[in-house]
Amino acid sequence: MRPEPINNILDIVPYKGGEATIEGVDKVYKLSSNENPLGFSNAAAEAFKDASGELNIYPDGAHEELKNAIAKRYGIDENRIVCTNGSDEVFQLLGRAFLNPGDEIIQSEYGFLVYRLIAQQAGAICVSAKTKDYQTQIDAILAAITPKTKIIFIDNPSNPTGTYVSFDEIKRLHSAIPSNILFVLDAAYAEYVNANDYASGIELAGEFENVLMTRTFSKIHGLAALRIGWTYGPQRIIDALQRVRSPFNVSLPALKAGTAAMNDGDFTQNSAAHNQKWLGELSQIINEIGLKAIPSVTNFIMVEFKDAKHADDCDIFLKTKGLIVRKIGAYNLPNCLRISIGTDDANRRLIAALKEFMGK
Ligand SMILES: *Cc1c(COP(=O)(O)O)cnc(C)c1O
Repeated sequence: MRPEPINNILDIVPYKGGEATIEGVDKVYKLSSNENPLGFSNAAAEAFKDASGELNIYPDGAHEELKNAIAKRYGIDENRIVCTNGSDEVFQLLGRAFLNPGDEIIQSEYGFLVYRLIAQQAGAICVSAKTKDYQTQIDAILAAITPKTKIIFIDNPSNPTGTYVSFDEIKRLHSAIPSNILFVLDAAYAEYVNANDYASGIELAGEFENVLMTRTFSKIHGLAALRIGWTYGPQRIIDALQRVRSPFNVSLPALKAGTAAMNDGDFTQNSAAHNQKWLGELSQIINEIGLKAIPSVTNFIMVEFKDAKHADDCDIFLKTKGLIVRKIGAYNLPNCLRISIGTDDANRRLIAALKEFMGK
């Protein structure tokens, strides 16, 4: 006999982040984790440095300053926000607070891998709804609902595909699901979206008892290293999440830097503009040279190759040029690569390398 973890936890395939180094190459261009190529807000960096004078002090376990800054920027009630150690943590908390063994969650076919992980941790089942042209299909999600369904997770826009679902479709899904099912809208890339028919879901999360919207400081705010996320939704669910999180889940430097970042609208605006410019240009060139850029509204592009070998060969070739992109075999997309929008320099190198790989 030996101690056994519950729910076959050792069967879980651990999440692997994007690669960051290439053996023998000093200067690498990391386009594998959808990080902000412009860095981070100077004000956030200053706040982080200031925090170095208070390392002996516990952070504010209620996250008051940060929640206040978020509430002000979005015009929402700060009591209905919970801050977490990255938005990853809130998915863990949702599993803890809402899933029993045998329960089901539904995600779209290529949904963010973390949803599956938290289901497995709870001994719950992750049901995937078929996509079409890499687009989340509302009817497929509706068809997957059973009496055991507890949570529906939609990453909108979606990682790794870069596609999105219109707000009308999100509302159609919401109005058709039983009110006991929790509907989680993961809007990690919302700030990058430039489409009239998109909405993050903040209104739904404000109005309904069963809708949550999750956000992150890791993407447009450029604070991935600090691990900060936030979630907005109905009081009763927020209260449950507040009870299952650890008391000091967001560190003091993270709280201070996050507050400064939330107040720095110029930085996020510049980041969105840089992204918008390159997203169009890169997508167009990728298509012109004979690859397929899946239409993206995010800070990354999923590129479809002839087959898995073609994608692998390109990945290897890009590495010889110092460019690291993301292989997405773990999402069942071995014939695709996910490429983050980089700095001007990185994007130009990427274009030159892709052209050379395609013999153009
Ligand atoms: C990057 C990302 C997040 C953010 O994760 P953090 O834990 O906040 O860094 C959440 N959801 C999706 C779909 C993502 O791609």
